[in-house]
Amino acid sequence: LKPERLDLQEVLSDLTHLLNRLVGERVNLRLAHAPDLGPIRADKRQLEQVVMNLVVNARDAMPEGGTIRIETEALTLRDELRRDRAVVPKGEYAVIRVLDTGCGIPADRLQKIFEPFFTTKRTGEGTGLGLSTAYGIVKQSGGFIFVDSEPGLGTVFHLYFPIHDGPEEAVTPRQEA
Ligand code: C2E
Repeated sequence: LKPERLDLQEVLSDLTHLLNRLVGERVNLRLAHAPDLGPIRADKRQLEQVVMNLVVNARDAMPEGGTIRIETEALTLRDELRRDRAVVPKGEYAVIRVLDTGCGIPADRLQKIFEPFFTTKRTGEGTGLGLSTAYGIVKQSGGFIFVDSEPGLGTVFHLYFPIHDGPEEAVTPRQEA
C-alpha cells in the first residue's frame, strides 16, 4: 500500500482510455470533472481498481447498452453526514459518482452489497469480492462509499474522499482493521 497525494482528475483522465475499452461499444462512457477538486490521499493503483470495478459492474448491469457517467464534485460538509450507519465528519471532500442506466439493485440487496462474498451475479460470473474490496480500499483512504439504486432505472455509487491539502506529515489516514 502506497498512499500518496493524488489529483482525482488526473487519475481519472489517465484511466479514460482503458475504461472506454472496458465498457465496449454498446455502452457510452461520459466523464464530468469538477474544476476545483482538492488533492486526496490514496494508493493510486487501488483507486484505479475501485473505479474500474464500479465501471465493470455498471457495464454488466446494462447488457442492452446504456450510459455510464463518472462525475466528480468538490463538496463541503458543514455538518456531519449520517448515512446508513456511517458518520461522515464535516469537512471538505472530493466526491466521485459512478452512475449507470442499468437494471438497478433491489432494495433488500442494497444493504448487503459491500459485504464480503455477496454477489448478485450467477455462480462463475463474479467472485463476490469486488464491492467489498472497493469498500476496504475506500476505508483505507479515510473515505466513504454509498449506493443508491432504483430497479429498472439505474444505480449510483458515491465515493467520498477527504481533501488533504495540508503538509504531508499531518496526514493520518485510517488504518485498515
Ligand atoms: P460495521 O461495518 O459493522 O463496522 C463497525 C466498525 O468496524 C466501524 O465503525 C469501523 O471502526 C470498523 N470497520 C469496519 N469495516 C472496516 C474497514 O473496512 N476498514 C476499517 N479501517 N475499519 C472498519 P464506523 O466506522 O463508525 O462505522 C459504523 C458503521 O457504519 C459500519 O458498521 C457500517 O455499517 C457503516 N459504515 C461505515 N463506513 C461506511 C461507508 O463508507 N459506507 C457505508 N455504506 N457504510 C459505512
